[in-house]
Amino acid sequence: MAKPYKGPERRKDHSLRIRRYRRLLEVTRTLSSTLDLPHLLRNIIESARELTDTEAVSIMLMDASTGQLRFEAITNKDDAAAMERIPVPIEGSIAGTIFTTAKPLIIADAASDPRHFRKVDNTITFVTRSILGAPLISKEKPIGVLQVLNKMKGSFTQDDVEILEALATQAAVAIVNARLFQQSDLIAEMVHELRTPLTSISACGQLLLRPGLPPDKRDEVAQVIQNETARLAAMTTDFLDLARLESGRAHFEREPFDMDLLCRECINIVTPQAAHRGVEIHFPASQPAAPKVNGDRSKIKQVVLNLLTNAIKYNRENGQIYVAMALSEGAVKVSVRDTGRGIPAEALPRMFEKFYRVPDSEGYTQGTGLGLAIAKRIVETHGGEMSLESEQDVGTTFCFTLPLDL
Ligand code: ADP
Repeated sequence: MAKPYKGPERRKDHSLRIRRYRRLLEVTRTLSSTLDLPHLLRNIIESARELTDTEAVSIMLMDASTGQLRFEAITNKDDAAAMERIPVPIEGSIAGTIFTTAKPLIIADAASDPRHFRKVDNTITFVTRSILGAPLISKEKPIGVLQVLNKMKGSFTQDDVEILEALATQAAVAIVNARLFQQSDLIAEMVHELRTPLTSISACGQLLLRPGLPPDKRDEVAQVIQNETARLAAMTTDFLDLARLESGRAHFEREPFDMDLLCRECINIVTPQAAHRGVEIHFPASQPAAPKVNGDRSKIKQVVLNLLTNAIKYNRENGQIYVAMALSEGAVKVSVRDTGRGIPAEALPRMFEKFYRVPDSEGYTQGTGLGLAIAKRIVETHGGEMSLESEQDVGTTFCFTLPLDL
């Protein structure tokens, strides 16, 4: 019996399919060997775009602190900063539907779908026409969504769905592994940092055991033990805070609060510490329409307190601190300016790094080098930004913004 003729089109489809699956296998191999999270995410989006022949790709991961999805990587790097600040709600978004149903979904015409979350298209110049999304699932639990946008030719096919699902399965495993690796890296860094105060306490202990140590020397050594123990305690608290924030386990409340009142409350708390160094804190009288921010009041309080205590610690004796608050482009901006020694230009890019302290601040004042890393995380989880400006021997200004419409 003659074989049914399948035609050149069917054969072409078949070989295209084989080529795609071969490519998928290659990609999977690369993914499983990458532990650097940002690098891994870029690899996933580039592969997804190539395998599905689409215009753009995004990866959203669940942020446990907000209960919303968060853009972790997108094809267009220029839009990345703006998009990272837009949390995607689980209710009322296509990604949210894919996340909750844990099933892939094709949207042929995004503009006419009521679930399409338009805030993203409105923020950037990109126009979404069609969407194919697959859930990222690890140990039977969704952790995020992988979406490909705007099929280049024709519309999404069942083949596209299968290939994206297969890629998403591998991608989820790789993401979870990279996150675990990040955490173990943080633990290693912490253990390393704990060694310095511990070594110092141990050396002091030995000194105290020496017979005939003069009483004034004894007091000095006891004081070092006291300081280093306090530093260890501060480090463990800060470290736990940071680990919770980095792993997305920190819980954030959302409640409207008065930013002006919060700043005043923080200033009252640190005033005795400032007075001790003769430092004055200035904050203009409350504005008639003080902005209300929606967020976690106690965490934002932690940010303001960190900036204020730094402005006191790194100020000169009898220095000044100017706190200000302003509204701009739907956000409130809080700034804390001091008249301290400033920060050398080469240290500026490292200021928000974990454990980083400007070298000569070591002997100058006590600290863990974690406060600013924590503050930046908190602000960014609220969809805001943190920045600084500094001039040596003139002073430093730290600013953070918080969107008003969260
Ligand atoms: P810590 O103060 O506990 O060391 P931070 O993360 O809050 O940790 O600050 C990190 C480092 O940044 C400090 O050690 C200090 O060197 C520098 N720094 C922070 N704030 C200021 C400031 N207002 N002026 C000058 N240097 C600062």
